[in-house]
Amino acid sequence: MPTPAKELSFLNEKIVACRLCPRLVAWREEILKKKPKRFAAESYWSRPVPGFGDPLAELLIVGLAPAAHGGNRTGRMFTGDRSGDFLFETLHRFGYSSSPKSISREDSLVLNKVYITATVRCAPPKNKPSLEEIAHCRQYLIEELRILKNIRVILALGRIAFDNVWQTVQLIFHSQGKSFACKKPSFSHGIEQNLPDGRVLIGSFHPSQQNTFTGKLTQSMFDSVFSRINTLITIG
Ligand code: SF4
Repeated sequence: MPTPAKELSFLNEKIVACRLCPRLVAWREEILKKKPKRFAAESYWSRPVPGFGDPLAELLIVGLAPAAHGGNRTGRMFTGDRSGDFLFETLHRFGYSSSPKSISREDSLVLNKVYITATVRCAPPKNKPSLEEIAHCRQYLIEELRILKNIRVILALGRIAFDNVWQTVQLIFHSQGKSFACKKPSFSHGIEQNLPDGRVLIGSFHPSQQNTFTGKLTQSMFDSVFSRINTLITIG
């Protein structure tokens, strides 16, 4: 029986080689022609960005997609842009990350009890994946949820991630012949819903620069979500 770490490693190899979404595969090439000056000399990852974190995670964070010059550049989710800076600083303060900064796939950062993934694993134009692309990429979230058996809380960052997690869990239930007698709540910051499998789904505004710079998502709003998560998970 392979360990969760081994299974995640197989899955991530598959993800990195994925070319199911032609528009996103083409966009990866386009991004290389649009490098900002500060990254002009850098070589970009330019492939699907796999999830990463603790194979025994109790918290699963689901974002939207890698940013063109963030995750798509560095090859690690939420790494290399301001939304990542906001997220990792918070994760560090709450005991989930060994460092407040995620710099590259090669830094020594270690995540504790958390695994980070996304709705789609390739950077989409204007950060807007199509419904078809979301559906294509859902298979990987289904696999992550199967492998990460200790997950107790799923934190969805933004409405698209929230709706995707909901739909994914519903599909898993139906595929197992189980009924999913639960009405989807409307997305809002801090929304919390018990899922029929005993896990808890929490929604938060995405820590995008657009949200944090405009004050739509403040540090204290984000902290209150993590304080709640820490009451559901024993962090240590
Ligand atoms: S978004 Fe997901 S399904 Fe589409 S090409 Fe990238 S990894 Fe594959």
